[in-house]
Amino acid sequence: MAYEINNSCICCVACKPICPVDCVSVVDDIYVIDAEGCVDCGACANVCPVDAPQPV
Ligand code: SF4
Ligand code: SF4
Repeated sequence: MAYEINNSCICCVACKPICPVDCVSVVDDIYVIDAEGCVDCGACANVCPVDAPQPV
């Protein structure tokens, strides 16, 4: 399992520095999670103001 950032993302940047395995990246101004690297810790979801990262 991994987390995925949905369309609610407002690009606030909060999730990127908090990820312990640095698997949040920005591609064409859209925040994406590398599903291979994600260790499913939920830290990004905890800091996100709009609940955009969801387990998939
Ligand atoms: Fe990174 Fe954890 Fe979010 Fe996965 S769930 S992207 S490991 S902060
Ligand atoms: Fe987007 Fe939430 Fe990450 Fe902010 S914390 S960049 S709103 S996914």
